[in-house]
Amino acid sequence: MIVCKFGGTSVADAAAIGRLVDIVRGRRADRPVVVVSALAGVTDTLLDLASLTQAGDPAALHAALAALARRHESTARELPGGETAIEAILDDLRACGVALERALGRRLGPAEVDALAGLGELGSSRLVAAAMQGAGLPATWADVRPIMVTDDRFGRATPVAAALAARVRDCLVPLCKAGRIPVTQGFIGATPGGVPTTLGRGGSDFTAALLGAALPASRVEIWTDVNGLMTADPRIVPGARTLRAASYEEAAELATFGAKVLHPATAMPLVRAGIPIVVLNSHRPGEPGTTIGPSAALERLGDSPIRSISWKRGITVINVRAPRMLGTYGFLRAMFEVFERHEVVVDVLASGEVSVSLTVEDRSRLEPVVRELGELGEVRVEERRAIVAVVGIGLRHTPGVASRIFRAVQPANVEVISQGASAINMTFVVREDDGPGVVQRLHAEFFGPCG
Ligand code: ADP
Ligand code: ASP
Ligand code: MG
Repeated sequence: MIVCKFGGTSVADAAAIGRLVDIVRGRRADRPVVVVSALAGVTDTLLDLASLTQAGDPAALHAALAALARRHESTARELPGGETAIEAILDDLRACGVALERALGRRLGPAEVDALAGLGELGSSRLVAAAMQGAGLPATWADVRPIMVTDDRFGRATPVAAALAARVRDCLVPLCKAGRIPVTQGFIGATPGGVPTTLGRGGSDFTAALLGAALPASRVEIWTDVNGLMTADPRIVPGARTLRAASYEEAAELATFGAKVLHPATAMPLVRAGIPIVVLNSHRPGEPGTTIGPSAALERLGDSPIRSISWKRGITVINVRAPRMLGTYGFLRAMFEVFERHEVVVDVLASGEVSVSLTVEDRSRLEPVVRELGELGEVRVEERRAIVAVVGIGLRHTPGVASRIFRAVQPANVEVISQGASAINMTFVVREDDGPGVVQRLHAEFFGPCG
C-alpha cells in the first residue's frame, strides 16, 4: 500500500484533478490510498467566511458561499462523472450557510471555525472520488473524521495514535485489500465524541504521514506544484535546484523554518518504520522528485556542504536580560514555565551569560507572556523579524561554514544565532525586510551564482 497526497494546487480545477486521476491510475498496483487537500485557496475563503459572519454582513456572506458553490459545481461538471458529487457538496455548503446566518454578528467559537475550515477537504475529496469513478477507477469516498481521532485543541488538534491505528486497520485496510482505492481528506479529524477538528494549516501532509504509518504504507507520496524539496523556495530564489534526497531530520528542520512544501510534523510518524516520503510535482509526474528517508548522502551541488536554506517571516524576538541569572539556578525553568503556561511555542533559543533571546511565531498570547517575563528580568520585544535556517548534514563535518554564512549575510544585521543540537542546522534572525536578500545571497554562496 502507498499513500498519495495531493495538495491544493494539485486539485485546483478539473485539469488538475484529471492529472491526479492519471497519476493514481499509474499506481494501482501499489494499492494507493488517496488523501486530498481543499481546492487551492478554498481553506482561506472558508476562514474569511468566519470574519464575514462576525462582521454581520449577510450579503457578502451569501456572495462568498455562492462563489464557493459555483466553483465546485463547475469543476464537477467539467469532469466526466463529476456531477455525482454535486448534491453532497451543495448540501454541505447550504448547511454551513444556515449555521453561519444564525451566528451573524458574533465571533465563531474555535469548534465552529474548525467545522467550517474542514468543508474544503470534504468537497474536494467528493470531487476526486467522483472523477476517479467516472474514469473507471474503483474509488471509494472515505470520511477521515471517524478515523483521525484527535484531542479537542481546535485549530491544531493532536491525533490519538492508538485510536488511529485501530481505525485505519478496520476502515481503510479492508478497502485496499478488496481492490478499492479509498479517497479521503487531509487536514481534518474529529474528537472521540465526533466533533470536527483540524490539524493546523498545511496539515494534509501530516494526515498522509499518519495514515502511511498506520497502514503501514511502503511510501508516502506528497504531490505538489514544484519538482521536490529544493535548495530554497523557488519563489524567492528562481534558480533553486531540486534535491534528489534528504534525511527526515533535514526535511523536518527545513519545514519548521519555513519550507512550506512540507508540514513540519510530516516526517515524525514515519521515522520509526523508516517509510520514505517522496515529494513530487503533479504538473510533471515524470520528474523523479525528492526522496526523504532515514539518511541521505550529500549530493554534489557545486561544492556545497549544505542541503537547503529556508526562511520564515512574522517572527517576534523576545530578549530577557537578568544580571541575577548569572550563577543562579532555576532561571531558565521559570522562564520556560511562562511559555508553557500560555502554550506559546519557542522556535529558536540563544543564551548568553546574563540574557536569553528566543523567538516566537504566535503573537496571540504575547501580552501576558511579556508581562510575566517582566518579573524575571528586563524584557525587550522586537517585531517583524525573520528566521533564516541553513540546513544540511554537511554542517556537522565541514569547518568554516559559519564564516561563509556570515560573509554572505552581510550587510544585513544578524540578531540571534543558534545551532541546533543535532548540528545539522544553523539558524539566525534578521529583519523581515532583509530575509529574501539574505536567502538569495546565501544561495549564491553555497549553490553558485546561477541561483
Ligand atoms: P500544496 O498545496 O501542494 O500543499 P504548498 O503551497 O503547501 O503546496 O507547498 C508548495 C510550495 O512550497 C511551493 O510552491 C514553494 O513555493 C514552497 N516552498 C518553500 N520552500 C521550499 C523548498 N525548500 N522546496 C520546495 N518548495 C518550497
Ligand atoms: N487545506 C488546508 C490548508 O490550506 C490543509 C492543507 O492544504 O494541507 O491549510
Ligand atoms: Mg501544503
